[in-house]
Order: sequence, then structure tokens, then C-alpha cells
Amino acid sequence: MSRLDGKVALITGAGGGIGREASALFASEGAAVVCVDINVESANETAQIVNEAGGRAIAVRADVSLDADAEAMVRSAEDTFGALHILFNNAGIMHSDDGDAQGTTEAIWDLTMNVNAKGVFLGCKYGIPAILRAGGGSVINTASFVAKLGAATPQVAYTASKGAVLALTKELAVVHARQGVRVNALCPGPLRTELLMKLLDTEEKKQRRLVHVPMGRFGLADEMAKAALFLASDDSSYVTGTEFMVDGGITAAYVTPE
Ligand code: NAD
Repeated sequence: MSRLDGKVALITGAGGGIGREASALFASEGAAVVCVDINVESANETAQIVNEAGGRAIAVRADVSLDADAEAMVRSAEDTFGALHILFNNAGIMHSDDGDAQGTTEAIWDLTMNVNAKGVFLGCKYGIPAILRAGGGSVINTASFVAKLGAATPQVAYTASKGAVLALTKELAVVHARQGVRVNALCPGPLRTELLMKLLDTEEKKQRRLVHVPMGRFGLADEMAKAALFLASDDSSYVTGTEFMVDGGITAAYVTPE
């Protein structure tokens, strides 16, 4: 018996990084997967990877920051696979023009908040009623370690958006705790995915970051997918409202090893 047998999972940002790894892992554990991305080609590729490996997946194009798209992606899950049990609100952006308060434009703030924070809200707005119709399930919202720590290399819009995801997650966890819906936040550390690597585009920039990571390396998307699987499955049946730090020890550190 696999850990997600008979379950239907919707994963946003499924065209790359964490979302792609989670799509493959959840499918290998028996879930039917709705792979959502704003970039439909990449979502298609992910669905193809899953289907070729013997799993079940469809690709859906949606911009998670748009109400109508969020409603339609959830409807696709119910129309195609009959229900929704697992919602992984994972899509997110980090803009290279995001900086300190003085230097960040209103447009960058709005874009980042719309995708990272409103996108999670809209996913929950339509996804939680679907999970309730299915008799219960699990919501995982991707926040970040930056929701807990400040950095001297600021990205105020991104950081604030992840703080919002964390607060929203806790409130919804409490609201739905007696209805069989668990809501948790996954807080990754810095990862070797496109999102961060296109920002840390020199070896020097990478090393400057790694100084702060006790484990001395970037995390991998598949390590986040495994953590998300724990939160998605009944293995975490008494876990709700948590900040699940998967960060190589960053948030525990004061001074890191030499
Ligand atoms: P990624 O850039 O590899 O993948 C993100 C995916 O989201 C892409 O496929 C992109 O097309 C999609 N996307 C972007 N905007 C969208 C929108 N409006 N609607 C639908 N899809 C959209 O990034 P990743 O590293 O896999 O990040 C996944 C999540 O993890 C994000 O929420 C990110 O903020 C978070 N995170 C990443 C890191 C890191 O270091 N990479 C650290 C902490 C948290």
C-alpha cells in the first residue's frame, strides 16, 4: 500500500523545481496529480514525466494570482479525477528588482504579493471547499525560512509575502482543524533550483550565502518534495498549523561551523 493511494493532489508551480519533484513523488505514492503552472509547456512536461513513469497526471495552465484561474484549476481536479484531497500551494516568484523598502517599486511589491500571498489565499478559497466535499485532506503552503529571519541582502516584497503565507496557514489550520482539513506551511531553506540560482549567478554569491547554512550546501527540490509528502500523507495525521523548517539548520544557527 502506497502512502497516497486513492488520493487526488493539485500542485501549483508544477512546471519546475519543488513542484515537479513533488508531482513525480506524489504520483509514485499512488496519487493522481493535477500539475498546475502559468507556463503550460513546463506543466505538460511534468505531466508527461509522471504518465511515462506509470502514474496519472494532467497539466493545467493557471495563473494562481487570478481568481477565475484558481477556481478553474480546482474544478479541473474534480472534473478529471472526481475529487481533491491534497492541495500543494507551491507556486512562487522572487523578482530580481525586489530590494529594500526604498528601492522596491510598488509594481514589484504588488506582483510578488499577488503571486506568493494572494495565490495561496485563492488556492485555499477554492481548494478547501473541494477538500471538504471529498471528506477531508491536507493543504501545504510553501513559505520560506525568510518568513522567520531578516537578511542584509533584502527582498522586502518576497519576505513579506512569505510571512503572509505563514500567518494565513496558521489561521486556516485552526479554522478547519475539526473538519478533517490539515493546513501546514513548508519552509524551505535556500535551494539549488532556478528560482534562487538565477539570482546567485556567480560562485562568490553562492558561497556568501552558504556561510549561513550549517550544513554548508543548498537544499534540493526532491528534499522538499519528501517533506511535502509527509505533510500530504496520513503520516502527519496529528500535524496542523506548523512551520515545517526544511532548511539545513539555518533557523537554528547563530554561528555556523568553519
Ligand atoms: P521554481 O522557479 O523552480 O518553480 C516555480 C514554478 O512556479 C515555476 O514553474 C513557475 O512557472 C511557476 N509560477 C510562477 N508564477 C506562477 C503563477 N502566477 N501561477 C502559476 N505558476 C506560477 O521555484 P522553486 O524553487 O521550486 O520554488 C517553489 C516554491 O518554493 C516557491 O513558492 C518559492 O518561493 C519557495 N521557496 C524556494 C526557495 C529556493 O531557494 N528556491 C526557498 C524557499 C522557498
